Amino acid sequence: MRRKVIAGNWKMNMLPNEAIEYIESFSKLVENTKNEVILCVPYTDLFYALMNAQGTNIKIGAQNMHFEEKGAYTGEVSAKMLKSIGVEYVIIGHSERRQYFAETDETVNKKIKAAFANDLKPIVCVGETLEQREAGIAEKVITEQTRFALDGLEKEQVKKVIVAYEPIWAIGTGKTATSEDANNSIKSIRNEIKKIYGDDVADNVIIQYGGSVKSSNAKELFTTSDIDGGLVGGASLVPEEFAKIVNYDEQQ
Ligand code: PEP
Repeated sequence: MRRKVIAGNWKMNMLPNEAIEYIESFSKLVENTKNEVILCVPYTDLFYALMNAQGTNIKIGAQNMHFEEKGAYTGEVSAKMLKSIGVEYVIIGHSERRQYFAETDETVNKKIKAAFANDLKPIVCVGETLEQREAGIAEKVITEQTRFALDGLEKEQVKKVIVAYEPIWAIGTGKTATSEDANNSIKSIRNEIKKIYGDDVADNVIIQYGGSVKSSNAKELFTTSDIDGGLVGGASLVPEEFAKIVNYDEQQ
């Protein structure tokens, strides 16, 4: 059985003192969960988050990285740099990066390869826009994004990838895909992975749902057949709320 992985994406929020306070209270609220818990924090919080998450079950991730290892790329941070301070996960290809920072399927693929070369686990985001959904091409878009993102990876690497299916129209809007729709989209991503990498890889790869997940809809989403947890933006900023999402399986 696949594990559930629940990751918070703080985006460009939280100063180091806020991150420290958050982890202090959040760690106590999630200490008994069997679900995997990840906080993806801004670069400036990484060191503090790593220090304060020591001895807890919280893993720390970054929200982006460059695909080159080093060099004249002012303002960028490489996978090697993240690994050197103990970061375990990195979000790659979030729709906000695709939309505002010209991230493409090609750069996403290069970043995933660089992440693996440095022993970082990528959380790879795919998702359709509202226009694409309304045009009936959502499945085509998300399966193509998945295929491009994973192109050239070894089967053992694909097994370690976390895919986050995030319909763009549901991110930060309060609109959530129905659990049935989200599950069906995730099934088509899993099916695409099955076609290319086989049953064993497809049965093991973790595929999350993201898009306005809250404590009130987490259980319904995460108890479907194919949704293996969530990538959570806004609701991960409040420790009590995010803890309820992580502990969704304790809800009545
Ligand atoms: C996200 O940023 O990945 C996300 C899903 O945001 P939100 O939960 O706020 O919709």
